[in-house]
Amino acid sequence: MCHAHRNLIGWSMLSPLAYHRKYSYGGGMLLFPTQFHMFNSLLLALVILLMSLLPRETVAEWYKDERAIMGTRIAVEFWDEDHHHAEQCAVRVFNEMHRIDALMSPYKPDSELSHINQQAAKGAIQISEEMFNLLKKSLSMSELSNGAFDITFSSVGYLYNYREGIKPTEEEIQQSLPNIDYHHVVLNEKTRSVRFTQPGVRIDLGGIAKGYAVDNGIAILVSCGIKGGLVTAGGDSRILGDRGNRPWMMGIRHPRKKDAVAVMLPLSNTAISTSGDYERFFIEDGKRYHHIISPRTGKSVTSTWSATVIGPDATTTDALSTTLFVLGPEAGLRLIESLSGIDAVIIDAHGQMYYSSGLAPPAAEAAQTGAGSPK
Ligand code: AMP
Ligand code: MG
Repeated sequence: MCHAHRNLIGWSMLSPLAYHRKYSYGGGMLLFPTQFHMFNSLLLALVILLMSLLPRETVAEWYKDERAIMGTRIAVEFWDEDHHHAEQCAVRVFNEMHRIDALMSPYKPDSELSHINQQAAKGAIQISEEMFNLLKKSLSMSELSNGAFDITFSSVGYLYNYREGIKPTEEEIQQSLPNIDYHHVVLNEKTRSVRFTQPGVRIDLGGIAKGYAVDNGIAILVSCGIKGGLVTAGGDSRILGDRGNRPWMMGIRHPRKKDAVAVMLPLSNTAISTSGDYERFFIEDGKRYHHIISPRTGKSVTSTWSATVIGPDATTTDALSTTLFVLGPEAGLRLIESLSGIDAVIIDAHGQMYYSSGLAPPAAEAAQTGAGSPK
């Protein structure tokens, strides 16, 4: 139960924490947290030192590249002994990101998403199968989260411009708020069409599309014959296999200290997404206006600093990280505990860290399974 392990972490705002509990997850092996209080920056330094002691040629074959696409940093890293082949595969991944951006960007007037926003309130319009499936998945996330995840947040959300420090007035918010409701988006399987029930409704796939792009990127690496690799789009990553018989060390960023790590997770063969209020924001009169919007208020969510979800695919973890950010620790962990194969770490607006029972400390697991000593 989620309640059993809540608040167990004496999360220090100053020191990084590390995970190292052995834990079987989604068919892969994860190392998860234990004895957080014993682990600090020294352990992190040790891990980095050990990694640096790996044989040179092992590290040298990891092909790495990154680009700025979809308004974020896209990175690939994978094992491929043929450098030319690796380059070709990476380009295919980047091209896929460009393709998805062209289809789903709310900022590109020619994107299919913009077309939907312009036309769907006038009547049902036929859409691509890909768009239909992602809209369907988005609506199912809305059902699952009781409306916390809602792509129609954009009916108000579009009035914010974080880069330029622009926000809607209270009056504007109240006027557009009734347009936020995922029930306004009606899909028709037979005609593969979408319509909005009223004018003023807008959708935005920013909470799910990067994860979808990451999944497609991993599918491309698989089709290239790659066995071990990582694709990242902003806060969304998916790991294929492991990193040469070792897990990938994935850090959850400290939400209030740029470049500091709050927690390390050794992960293999899984997806991980983090939603944070530090990604796109501005501060006015001491108040933070950021990009994750409560569908109930049309305003930035204030309960959470960051929400991280670990699960089998990045489309799901992306949507769930945004969902958990909106729900906050209590309702968020309740939701996660009801789903199998998914775990979460939430840092609330007081800097308190919460995590799901799949990330329980070792004592509980050791008692049940006999496992205990860290690997
Ligand atoms: P993420 O990048 O996964 O942290 O999600 C943040 C993005 O999701 C924002 O930039 C918006 O595009 C979108 N978003 C904001 N609020 C919501 C919401 N309540 N439901 C669904 N998507 C949202
Ligand atoms: Mg997300």
